[in-house]
Amino acid sequence: MNALARPTFRFAPSPNGLLHLGHARSALMNAAMAKAIDGRLLLRIEDIDAARCRPDYEAAIHEDLAWLGLDWERPVRRQSEHFPDYRAALDKLLAMGLVYESFESRAEIRREVEERPGWPRDPDGAPLFPFARETMSESERASRRAAGEPHALRLDMRRAAAMAGPLGWREVGGAGPDAADTLVADPLAWGDIVIARKDVPTSYHLAVVVDDALQGVTYVVRGSDLKAATSVHRLLQLLLGLPEPLYTHHPLLLDAEGRKLSKSIGSESLRALRQAGVSAGEVRRRALGPSA
Ligand code: GLU
Repeated sequence: MNALARPTFRFAPSPNGLLHLGHARSALMNAAMAKAIDGRLLLRIEDIDAARCRPDYEAAIHEDLAWLGLDWERPVRRQSEHFPDYRAALDKLLAMGLVYESFESRAEIRREVEERPGWPRDPDGAPLFPFARETMSESERASRRAAGEPHALRLDMRRAAAMAGPLGWREVGGAGPDAADTLVADPLAWGDIVIARKDVPTSYHLAVVVDDALQGVTYVVRGSDLKAATSVHRLLQLLLGLPEPLYTHHPLLLDAEGRKLSKSIGSESLRALRQAGVSAGEVRRRALGPSA
């Protein structure tokens, strides 16, 4: 980290649903940590998935965060407006020979995995990509590419990890940056991840490291569900020559059944809490836990 750079934090939600208490926890922690060390707080809209992201959800993010009493720098970076930045990073990885076209459909991948009982899964629980780069000859790939067949781009993880060598990151806990633990990154646990989707020249992983670097983010504070992904982020940072931020992955808020809050299970949104008459102060307390 550049010692002269002002500490910079970001909250980076995807506008594919309404924010819930888990988002509030991340946003409030970023704000509190930024305030404690006179840092900057940025908001970034992670909207590369045009099919799932909606302008009304984006407007709700601004409204809910302001209601919680947060403030952030303008302009707000919206990922869908910066595809050329991700394309440039992708081109670097391509030039390094670390990326290949993957024409397999989801159904083909699912069938292949079904035929391999016990096939390993990534840290999020999804099966690793079951085909290797070598499964398809370069000539077949070239002819399918020339025919304009849709495809994703995948990172050749074994080659990428070998090129990078051993990797780790600095994880900051309650005792502050001077007491950061160094954690070992394990990008191989993710297999050949999609680095650019069929429809856009990026993926969550690529866009996040490019943006953190372009925005001068020095400190990433987010939920522990993204901790394992940090292995991929460190790998991409090293390969692309990007600076290494500090990381804090905070514990997730769980619902009464012990499940992590999420849009997909219909967790109560900040908007619904507000409409039910819950005050912003009470939401802040619930988001940060009893000690807050
Ligand atoms: N956009 C991601 C999400 O909403 C968070 C990305 C990050 O903090 O790195 O889960």
